[in-house]
Amino acid sequence: MIPRIRIAHLPTPVELLPRLSSALGGPRLLVKRDDQTGLALGGNKVRKLEYLLAEAQANGARTLVTVGAAQSNHCRQTAALAARAGLDCVLVLGGTPPVRSTGNLLLDEYFGAELVWAGGQQRDTVLKQVFHEAWSAGRRPYLIPLGGSTPAGAAGYVLAMQEYISQAADRPELRADWIVLASSSGGTQAGLLAGARKTGWSGRILGVSIDRPAPELREIVASLAQASADWLGERMVFAPGDVLVNDQFLGAGYGVIGPPEQEAIRLFARQEGLLLDPVYTGRAAAGMISLIRSGFFHTGESVLFWHTGGTPAVFADQYHP
Ligand SMILES: *Cc1c(COP(=O)(O)O)cnc(C)c1O
Repeated sequence: MIPRIRIAHLPTPVELLPRLSSALGGPRLLVKRDDQTGLALGGNKVRKLEYLLAEAQANGARTLVTVGAAQSNHCRQTAALAARAGLDCVLVLGGTPPVRSTGNLLLDEYFGAELVWAGGQQRDTVLKQVFHEAWSAGRRPYLIPLGGSTPAGAAGYVLAMQEYISQAADRPELRADWIVLASSSGGTQAGLLAGARKTGWSGRILGVSIDRPAPELREIVASLAQASADWLGERMVFAPGDVLVNDQFLGAGYGVIGPPEQEAIRLFARQEGLLLDPVYTGRAAAGMISLIRSGFFHTGESVLFWHTGGTPAVFADQYHP
C-alpha cells in the first residue's frame, strides 16, 4: 500500500447543471465539485497533497517548501495542510508583495506560512536557495514543486477518477462523455488520464490550457501520467498523442482576466449559483462555453466540468482593478 494521509472530504459531489445546459442550448452539463475538497476552502491541490504529505512524513520532514504565484491556490492549500500537520511552511511567491494581502495571500498569512518574494529573480532559483538554507538550518525541508505536480501528487487524481467512475456507476444520470478541466502544471489532467486508463473509462478528457502552448502541455501531461502510473506500479504507456489539450483560450496570459472569463463567471453564478475563480476555472469554463457555441460537442452528449477550486482568488484585489 502506498501511504496516503486522508484529509480531503471525499467523495466530492457530482451535480447536474440543468439551467446552464438550457441557457447554452448544447450538451447536458454536469459538475464535479472539487472546489469542495474541504481543506481551507477546497480545491484540487488537496487530493495531491494527501500523497505528498505522506511522502514528506515518511522522509521525516518538518518543513514544507513550495512555490507559486502571489495568488497561488496550491500555496494556500499547502500552508493550511502544514498548519494542520504541525509542520512549518515556506512559500516562494513570484514578484513583490502587494500593498494589501487579500484572497489566497491573506490566508497564507493566517496559516502562518513564511513568505519569500522572488522579486526580479526566477522563482525556481529562489526556491532552490530557500530549500538549501532550510536544509542547512536543520529544518528538514520537503520540496513540493509547482502545483504539486509530481508522480505522487498526480496519483491523487488517479484516485479521483476512480471516485467519479464509481459515482457514475451508482447513478447513471451522472455519466459523461467528456470531462473538461483547467490544466496548468498538468498533474490533475495526468492523474485523470491514468485513472481513466486504469478503469477502462471510454470518455474523453479535455484540458483547457491556462498558460502553455498545447504541444508543451501535452508533453508534460503524458510524462506525468507515465511517471505516476509507474510510481503506482501500474503497467501503462502514455504518449503526448493520448492527451487532449486546447490552447485557444490563453487570452493575454496567466491571471489576466478578459471578457470571456468575466462572462463565464457571471453565467455560472447567475444560472447555477456556482462560483468560478478568475484564473483557472473561469478560463476553462470560458473555453467550454466557446466550444459548446461552436458545436464542438454533439447533441445528446454529456459534458462534466471538473471544478478544480480557486474560490479565495474571487476576493483578491489583484483581480478587481
Ligand atoms: C492548480 C489549479 C489548477 C491546475 O491544476 P494542475 O494540476 O496544475 O494542472 C486548476 N484549477 C485551480 C483552481 C488550481 O488551483
